[in-house]
Amino acid sequence: MLTSLAEAAPRERPAYRSFRAQVARVERLSPHFTSITFTGDELGEFGTAGLDQRVKVVLPLPEIGFAAFPEVDDWYPAWRELPQELRNPFRTYTVRAVRPDAREVDIVFVGHGDGGPASAWAAHAAPGDELVLIGPDELSAGRTSGIDWRPGEVETYVLAGDETAAPAIASILGALPDDASGVALIEVPSIDDRLEIRAPAGVEVRWLARDAHHTHGERLVPAVRDWVVRHLAARGLARATDEERAAMALAAAEHDDVPDAPLWDVPEGHSLDGDCYAWLAGEASAITTLRRFLVREAGLDRRQVAFMGYWRLGRAELD
Ligand SMILES: Cc1cc2nc3c(=O)[nH]c(=O)nc-3n(C[C@H](O)[C@H](O)[C@H](O)COP(=O)(O)OP(=O)(O)OC[C@H]3O[C@@H](n4cnc5c(N)ncnc54)[C@H](O)[C@@H]3O)c2cc1C
Repeated sequence: MLTSLAEAAPRERPAYRSFRAQVARVERLSPHFTSITFTGDELGEFGTAGLDQRVKVVLPLPEIGFAAFPEVDDWYPAWRELPQELRNPFRTYTVRAVRPDAREVDIVFVGHGDGGPASAWAAHAAPGDELVLIGPDELSAGRTSGIDWRPGEVETYVLAGDETAAPAIASILGALPDDASGVALIEVPSIDDRLEIRAPAGVEVRWLARDAHHTHGERLVPAVRDWVVRHLAARGLARATDEERAAMALAAAEHDDVPDAPLWDVPEGHSLDGDCYAWLAGEASAITTLRRFLVREAGLDRRQVAFMGYWRLGRAELD
């Protein structure tokens, strides 16, 4: 009897694991966005939790592909043990869509030239190319880990990010209730990079093109400031007391003063219920500027805001 119960118990599975995949389709959505659909026998078990769930894209090495990649549950320590020349590069991306019945996963890559291995790989990707995804396992109890969108019960959603955050923003908007209200401000390289995305009628979606005239964050930062001042600060939505605000401003200042501090500050559990929840992701210095503004000047409670530096200008992801 005991034996059969033990046999029936599901085996403990890690939240994330490696999935072998091949490129099924490549769709050039706009000058800087490419959607790549991956397929593979194991992708029927790829996690479907969506929102801003992150994954790792492991890229092939010249000549040997994935021959040296440790496909074990605890792959990272094993990867680190490898000599440098045998370590497959990997980068962080967002799952844009999952279709378990078709065993397919979509990821939207931003093209920024051949300066990074992931951008270069996506620029030349073609059906049949192989890749390894480190992603959530639908059969694991931890299948929703890697999601940072955790609003409480709120009235107003503020989403802001650059092109690297556009796939996450699109997935989040698609999952909001029909009566949601707020704004999504998305900075993109060019006016032709506006994508068709579904959003509730009460959420304004604004695409901000840098074109040739602006650097990263130059359109996004003033747009967020302007929106917050007009819609939130005017309604007195800052919830912290003066004392809490001073302590949070000090903590933010200390954090910002540490050179190269990773910019990742997401409320634990779920955020504060109430008036608003802000989710901001993109180039780290633009996000740092927004963090200073929201926490130090506008007085938003840190428990109302998720700040995520998705990448850093002039730095490769693993530097
Ligand atoms: C949680 C999370 C989710 C993400 N989701 C997505 C996603 O869905 N789609 C997506 O495209 N990106 C996404 N990113 C960002 C992506 O991981 C980085 O842009 C990454 O650096 C790309 O790797 P790479 O090999 O092309 O360049 P790296 O080798 O990492 O960098 C090489 C050089 O390129 C610069 N660089 C990196 N990214 C850009 C860029 N977008 N524009 C201009 N210069 C750049 C770096 O500053 C560096 O100088 C996400 C990041 C995180 C942390």
